[in-house]
Amino acid sequence: MDKRTFFLRAMRGEEYRRRAWVISAFSQTRENPDAWKTDRYPWRIVQTPTAYFFVDPEKENELTAIDDADTTAPPFRFRDPIDLKTGEVPNLYRDVRTTYGNTLFNFLVLVYPFGNRVEFQPGRVSAGQLEDHVLSRTIDDPERADKRSGTPAPPVTDGLKAPLYTSEYVKFSNAMFQLTAFTQLCVPAVTRKTMQAAPGIHELREKLLEQNRGRLDDPAVVAGIMKELVKYDKDWLKDDEGANFLITKKSWEVVRTRLFSMMDMEAGFGDLTKADLVKTSLAEGWDISKFPSMNDTLRAGSYKRGAETALGGELVKWLLRVSANLGVTQEDCGTRLGLEMTVDEGNLYKLPGSAVVTATGHEKIDSEEAACRYLGKKIMLRSPMFCALPKTDYCSVCAGARLSLNPTALSVAISDYGSAFMGLSLGAMHGKVLETARMDYRKAIS
Ligand SMILES: [Zn+2]
Repeated sequence: MDKRTFFLRAMRGEEYRRRAWVISAFSQTRENPDAWKTDRYPWRIVQTPTAYFFVDPEKENELTAIDDADTTAPPFRFRDPIDLKTGEVPNLYRDVRTTYGNTLFNFLVLVYPFGNRVEFQPGRVSAGQLEDHVLSRTIDDPERADKRSGTPAPPVTDGLKAPLYTSEYVKFSNAMFQLTAFTQLCVPAVTRKTMQAAPGIHELREKLLEQNRGRLDDPAVVAGIMKELVKYDKDWLKDDEGANFLITKKSWEVVRTRLFSMMDMEAGFGDLTKADLVKTSLAEGWDISKFPSMNDTLRAGSYKRGAETALGGELVKWLLRVSANLGVTQEDCGTRLGLEMTVDEGNLYKLPGSAVVTATGHEKIDSEEAACRYLGKKIMLRSPMFCALPKTDYCSVCAGARLSLNPTALSVAISDYGSAFMGLSLGAMHGKVLETARMDYRKAIS
């Protein structure tokens, strides 16, 4: 049997769920030559020095050879190309050229939980976007929804618009976590290049520092230099296997720069507007003249962040207590006031679930489509800030649809402000990137 046929048959047999199978398919393994005889699971790969075989469920679990496998390499590699035809993967609706790794991903993460109802994802996939898509289609399992509402459950239908169910979402999440078992196979972190500074980066740094001499106390200038250094570093690593591990901004702009190109501005206990520039990298050894600044940063990153995090926790507790008696009532206070805002792509997400003040009262916005009608318009958005109800209650229109669902749980939402402070302190502990950004001051102060 040829490699491609074998792979797709094993996928159809759900072997992607078996960690041992995936590891033996994507790496070279060495085990007792007779090990397979005691556990003949279907499609089990048996690697020998001269050929690759598999336990063939169609031939009474005896061995069959994988004809076109090259035994100097693993049976499959994640980036080996494969041409797939419509239907060869249950959720594939068009012909596509992709890789074995991508095919494995689709079987494990999409076909296993959802069958053919979430479309095949080629290329690099964003876990966040995929989850957003899945969640936007997820509803209660039919039997549970049935029990709660007493109405018959909708029929389970196939197709890319069909609903997905919570039990399937749980399978999807488990499958995503299963992927972490394969990091050693497909995202090596340690390569010759990831362990080193890009050759010439120190010369580039010296050149840039020299060009900007006299302006090095300006964070915007230093941010510009850092950007150039990161670009140079990325260029050098772009074809390296290890670059697939360095996918976060932090690994490039904090970890690799501090380690190999330049320590950057040390803010110590202050903020980055008044910071001390440390021009060398950690790999070159400490610049002892900058010892105080580096120590300040160390203490800011350890004790100070810890103390600030505790403050955030205290604020959460305080907010929970002061807001414990707040409630949402079902009526409409009828206020004519609200938050003034101009709707654009950036704040559109705030609208669904809220209400807009109109000439005759208010209009509830219940969907993203309804919100889109206000794009580019200046509106007054009803907000608890302007609720006219007496005492400590808010009306359901000012509070919005989501908060009204749990009328006595407002304090949970309010305590979230404390969590935001806590998050800021916790986040700062992990290193900051110095960079410039464009600001529209009118938007920022509106
Ligand atoms: Zn109100």
